[in-house]
Amino acid sequence: MRKCLLLFACVLIVGCGGQTIDQTATHDNPFLVAYDTPFDVPPFDRIEESDFVPAFEEGMARQNAEIAAIVSNPEPPTFDNTVAALDRSGELLGEVSRVFFALSGSNTNDELQEIQKEMSPRLAAHQDEIELNPELFARLKTLYDEREELDLNREQLFLLEHLYEQAVRNGALLDDEDQARLKEINQRLSELRVEFNANLLAETNAFKLVIEDEADLAGLPDGVIATAAATAQRDGLENAWVFTTHKPSMLPFLTYADNRDLREQLYTAYTVRGDQNNENDNKAVIAEIINLRVEKANLLGYETFADLTLEPRMAGTPEAVFALLNQLWDASLPVAKREVEEMQAIIDAEGGGFQLASWDWWYYAEKVRKAKYDLDDNELRPYFELNNVRDGVFYVANQLYGLTFVELEDMPKPHPDAQVFEVFEADGSHAAVIYMDYHPRESKRGGAWCGRFRSQNRSAGVEVDPVINLVTNFTDATDDTPALLSLDEVETLFHEFGHALDGMLSNVTYRTTVRSPDFGELPSQIMEHWALAPEVLKVYARHYETGEPIPDELIAKIENSSYFNQGFNQVEYLAASLLDMDYHTLTEPTELDIDTFEKASMDEIGLIPEIVPRYRTTYFAHITGGYAAGYYGYIWSGVLDNDAFAAFEETSLFDQETANRFRKEILEVSGSKDYMDMWVAFRGREPDIGPLLRNLGLQ
Ligand SMILES: [Zn+2]
Repeated sequence: MRKCLLLFACVLIVGCGGQTIDQTATHDNPFLVAYDTPFDVPPFDRIEESDFVPAFEEGMARQNAEIAAIVSNPEPPTFDNTVAALDRSGELLGEVSRVFFALSGSNTNDELQEIQKEMSPRLAAHQDEIELNPELFARLKTLYDEREELDLNREQLFLLEHLYEQAVRNGALLDDEDQARLKEINQRLSELRVEFNANLLAETNAFKLVIEDEADLAGLPDGVIATAAATAQRDGLENAWVFTTHKPSMLPFLTYADNRDLREQLYTAYTVRGDQNNENDNKAVIAEIINLRVEKANLLGYETFADLTLEPRMAGTPEAVFALLNQLWDASLPVAKREVEEMQAIIDAEGGGFQLASWDWWYYAEKVRKAKYDLDDNELRPYFELNNVRDGVFYVANQLYGLTFVELEDMPKPHPDAQVFEVFEADGSHAAVIYMDYHPRESKRGGAWCGRFRSQNRSAGVEVDPVINLVTNFTDATDDTPALLSLDEVETLFHEFGHALDGMLSNVTYRTTVRSPDFGELPSQIMEHWALAPEVLKVYARHYETGEPIPDELIAKIENSSYFNQGFNQVEYLAASLLDMDYHTLTEPTELDIDTFEKASMDEIGLIPEIVPRYRTTYFAHITGGYAAGYYGYIWSGVLDNDAFAAFEETSLFDQETANRFRKEILEVSGSKDYMDMWVAFRGREPDIGPLLRNLGLQ
C-alpha cells in the first residue's frame, strides 16, 4: 500500500473539458484564447502567474451565467436542461483550476502560494453559491422525486441521485441562517487548508542536516552520499553533505547511517514538523479544522463528520471502518512487537546497551532484512533504473489492455523535467496524453500523486480525451549514475500508474464523476501486484550498465522478503488511520489540545513507543484534504485489490478475459456507478478479506 494522494480531478460542478474561445476578454491571457497546442494540452510555456486570477474570475463569471440560464429557463426541468446543463457548466473554471492546482503542487513559488491563499476561499464560496442555489436545487429536487418515471439510463440516474444527495449533504435543505453559517465554515476551512499546507512545506524545507565530518557518513552507501553531496552543492555548501526531511533523503539515512545521534536528529526533525510552537505551527490550524467539521456535520443533522463523509462511500458508516481497522490492528500489533524483539536481540548482541527507539527502526530492520532475507536495497537498485521501470509499467499496461506509448518531444510542460507520452489503444487510435514528473525539488510537495489536466467525457457532445499528470519524488540521478530506484519507489510508480490507467481508460458520458478513497485505490493498488511478479521483473528489471535481467536468486529474495517488516508497515499505517477516524468521530466541537488528543488516541489502541504513526496530526496532509475520515481507504481498497488480483491468480497473470472484465466493469465506468455494483459485476460476489490477510502474512 502506497502513501499517495489521489487528486480528485473532477470535484462536483467544476467541470472538465476543452476550451471555449472568447476574444473579447483579455486577449493575452492564454486561458481565454484557443490553446493551439498539440492535443489541446494546457500551454504551460505561455501561462504566467498573473494570468490565473483573471482566468479564475472569468471562469466563475461564465459559470454563474450558465447557472442563471438553467434556473431562468421557463421550461419545466428535464434531465438535459438541468442535470446535463449543470454538468456542462464551468468548463473554463475547471480548466484553470486543474492547471493551477497541479502547478501549485509540483512547481510552486511565493506568487502561486499567494494566489492560492486568495483564491481558495473565493472558489469555495463560488461552489457554495451553486450548491446552495435554491432555484437550482428546486429543479433538481423535482427531477429527483420523479426519477423513476423519467426513463433515464443507468448513468443518468446515478448522476441525478448523486447531485441531489450531495446537494442535501451540502446543506440545500437547511434554512437561510444555517446555510449562511455553513458558507462561513466552508470558506474558513478552505483558508485553513491552504495555511496548513503552506506551514507544512515551510517546516519540511526548514530543516537540513548538514554533515561536514566525513566520519558521520559511516554506513551510508556511495549513491546516498553522492546524492547528499549534490544537495549540499545546490544549497551552495562546499565539502558538505545535506540530508533533509523529504523521504528520499531521510529514509536512506535512517536505514544506513551508523551515527545514532544523527539518526535521532533527522527523524525527530521529521516528526515535529508543524508542532514546534513557531510561526509555522499547525496545531491550532488543525484543531480549528476538526471543530469546524463537527459543527458542519451537526448542522447537517449528522452525529459526526465521519457519518457525513462516509455516507456516499463504499464503507458507508464509521462502524464499518472501525470494524475493518480494528480487525487488522489486532492481527498486526503482535507482529510488530515480534519485530521489535528481533531487532532488540541484534542491539543486545552487538552490546548496544540501549532500547530500540523510533529513529532506530529502519537501521535495525535493514540488518534483520540482510540477516534473514539477505536482501540489500543497494543490490537491487541497479536493476531499477527509472526509465527501465517506467518501461516495465508500460509493458504491463500493454499486456493487460493493449496500450502502447510514444514519447512526445517539444511539448509544453508543467516543469522542464517532465516526460510526456502519447498513449495509443491496441487498434492504433489515440487514447490519452500523460505527463510524468519524477524527482524532488523545493517547489514540489512531498509524496506521489496522479491528477488530471483533463478528464475523459462527452458531456458537450464531443469526445474529450484525457490528459494525465503523474508526479513523484523519486531518487534522482547523480554525477555517476542514472536515477536508480528503491523497491518502494518501483511499487509507487506502478501504483500511481494505476491511477493514470483509471483516468486513461475512463469511458463515461458526464464530467461529474464520483470519487471515493475506499474504492479509488483499487485501480492503483492492483498494479503493485504486477510490479514484483517474476515474469514481469524479468522483462524490465535489467542492470543499468550491463542490460542483464535481474537474476533468479534476487527475485527469490524479493519474494521471500514480502512479509518483511509487515508488522511495522501495517501498524504505522493503521495508527494514522485510526487517528484520522478518532478526530472525525467527535460528536461536538471541543477544546482540542492536539498533542494530548493524539497521545490519548494512540494509547487507547496500545501503539508501541517504537512506532510513530505514519503521519502525526501536524503533518497529516491527507486529512486536511480529500482523505478526511478517508485514510482508511487504502486498506479498504486493499481488501479489494488483493481480492481482484486473486482473479488473475486463479487464471493467469495477463488473462485477457479477466483484464477485459476489469477494464469494462471497473476502469471504464469508474465514478459513474455504485461501487458495490461495479465490484460485483467484476468479481461476481462481494469482497473477500482472505487474500489481503494472506498476502500480508497476517493469517
Ligand atoms: Zn493512490
